[in-house]
Amino acid sequence: MITRANTSVVHIGGVPVGGGHPIKIQSMTNTDTRDIASTVAQIKNLQAAGCEIIRVAVPDMEAASAITRIKKEISIPLVADIHFDYKLALAAVKNGADKLRINPGNIGSENRVRQVAEAAKACGLPIRVGVNSGSLEKEILAKYNGVTAQGMAESALKNVALLEKFGFNDIVVSIKTTDVSLMLDAHKILAKRLPYPLHIGLTEAGTPYNGAIRSAAGLGALLSLGLGDTVRVSLSGDPVAEIHAAKEILAAMGLRRFGVKVIACPTCGRTDIDVAGIASRLEQKLAHVTTPITIAVMGCVVNGPGEAREADVGIAGGNGKAVLFRKGEVVRTVGVDEMEVAVLGEVEGMITNLFQKPIVD
Ligand code: SF4
Repeated sequence: MITRANTSVVHIGGVPVGGGHPIKIQSMTNTDTRDIASTVAQIKNLQAAGCEIIRVAVPDMEAASAITRIKKEISIPLVADIHFDYKLALAAVKNGADKLRINPGNIGSENRVRQVAEAAKACGLPIRVGVNSGSLEKEILAKYNGVTAQGMAESALKNVALLEKFGFNDIVVSIKTTDVSLMLDAHKILAKRLPYPLHIGLTEAGTPYNGAIRSAAGLGALLSLGLGDTVRVSLSGDPVAEIHAAKEILAAMGLRRFGVKVIACPTCGRTDIDVAGIASRLEQKLAHVTTPITIAVMGCVVNGPGEAREADVGIAGGNGKAVLFRKGEVVRTVGVDEMEVAVLGEVEGMITNLFQKPIVD
């Protein structure tokens, strides 16, 4: 059982983050924000996949202006990602962003930081202080002789202090690097020093498969310490993959449940059925179901039902047939051709009234 750190709560749009609220999943568009149609289409895809907060890059005033129209088309909170130019932050606030991601230290004089903090406060916007290992301040790199956990934590503390100086406390903090142990050490230092919610994620994690594994290692370690209030799994390519990975990580840690979970045995010399194919097809056919149900696909009856005792329903191959089981107890024998329909029927029976559309086409 993971005990979550007791962080403060910020509201991003209507979405609470921190203070023990369920850990929120976020992503970032990789469209040109000025291309409103493409950006809205991508956000809607992400929203449909389960994204709860979306961030867009705001590199210029045209992108800042696009926020107004993008916001009208989407129904999840939007975070404006800004570097260097405080005027872009002010424009993003004015145009309806729900949160800013900046580094106060790189948007200019204290007077500019004060203006951004005051504008965000007036509109109830939180600010994420986002420190990345690749953009640490020169003086911190010099002080610590390169990128270190102490240096990253110090950078975050320094940037947070700049906002606090102007009475701004509606803060989320992130420290990102691709190095898992460095990230862990930096968060451990930071969590002792700050009450604010943590946005966690590895930066530049990589391609979908390898990046998801690296993210699972890093985020899993942090989450097991109770750290993390919102996650982003950074993967190259279509960001929808980030949402799937984040859901799997949170579900594996027992921190959230997202609809159907299909577990399957690894197969061995006793395997009697097409475990991988059946499991994949069930995942696809039940992807729209939001009720938490665990389904097991096991290759044989020798170990199948017993090993998958925690599953709500399952199937195990055996002598050209299969057994259907519920919570480890065999219910009946079905033919190989009937296996998938039998499982789908069981699931449908459990949640008939909750389905948005039929399972069996
Ligand atoms: Fe092998 Fe049966 Fe275990 Fe699957 S459930 S790995 S087929 S022993």
